[in-house]
Amino acid sequence: MRILVTGGAGYIGSHAVRWLAREGHEVWVYDNLCAGHRQAVPEGRLVVGELMDRPRLVETLSAHQIEAVMHFAAFAAVGESVADPAKYYQNNVVASLNLLEAMRATGVNKMVFSSTTATYGAPNRIPITEDEPQKPINPYGFAKLVIEQALDDYRAAYGLGYAALRYFNAAGASPDGDLGEDHDPETHLIPIVLQVALGQRQNITVFGEDYATPDGTCIRDYVHVDDLSSAHALALKQLQPGTALKLNLGTGRGQSVREVIDACRRVTGHAIPTLVGARRPGDPPELVADSRRAQSVLGWKPRYMEIEETIRTAWRWHSSHPRGYAG
Ligand code: UDP
Repeated sequence: MRILVTGGAGYIGSHAVRWLAREGHEVWVYDNLCAGHRQAVPEGRLVVGELMDRPRLVETLSAHQIEAVMHFAAFAAVGESVADPAKYYQNNVVASLNLLEAMRATGVNKMVFSSTTATYGAPNRIPITEDEPQKPINPYGFAKLVIEQALDDYRAAYGLGYAALRYFNAAGASPDGDLGEDHDPETHLIPIVLQVALGQRQNITVFGEDYATPDGTCIRDYVHVDDLSSAHALALKQLQPGTALKLNLGTGRGQSVREVIDACRRVTGHAIPTLVGARRPGDPPELVADSRRAQSVLGWKPRYMEIEETIRTAWRWHSSHPRGYAG
């Protein structure tokens, strides 16, 4: 298929682009490079543009006869969304609606959307199934939920076929160490811990040790970025106009912040000094996926089930690219 990948120069998008290209799809990337990296995109496949620029989107969709869009482009830092919600509503909501209109104008009626576990807020039951009520507790989650709703309204009224893939915590890097996570500033746990291992930071601050979890720190489900990529490719195969797939993507295994830090110590062989800080606003105590629906509907099976294996791929990337793509 001919696919346009928004945010294809970013962390998850770039891994998906490579995966899709290897499966034989014709892939084009649309990215404004505000957080993405030109070096993460295959030569000649990058269109630098803004999601708010509807004429450019329309031109891109038509010029490459795009059949489906994978929409990764978004800001994704929970804490920042609490401090600066306007950024999240403008970019993750308004710009996504603009993209949907560009698709409608050009008759592109398939989308795979990067949704998130943050749409569930602080869930009642762990592991989380897709039937859990979606009640976000931060602007990042609300903004993603607005787009899930818009997708469903577009499906009912205009025949859009879509998959809303609700990622848990994306982690890891391509096993060859060529693609990986490079955010500035970095806010995510595993890359920060690995920066401590590399000596680029003195320590890691654990955000809260007084949660109602076994060791008092937050529990998350870290799913490998290549497992997310394979789920996207499978979802694309299933998409039909007028139909919806809403699927959780996680391993079903939870790791506390302390457990992640310990696993990083084992993988890197470095002592990782920790401090304990206040809770980060907007953080629910525990998020673990029940992904059985994705496994049965898509035939998806995450390959990386051990946190250490996932961290090992991230470590390969960070230790071979200590300055990220700039290096
Ligand atoms: N976290 C932490 N210290 C940090 C960064 C993150 O303790 O410097 C915690 C954070 O509070 C959360 C978990 O690590 O419980 C995962 O956070 P991350 O930002 O990686 O992903 P999120 O769950 O926000 O999508």
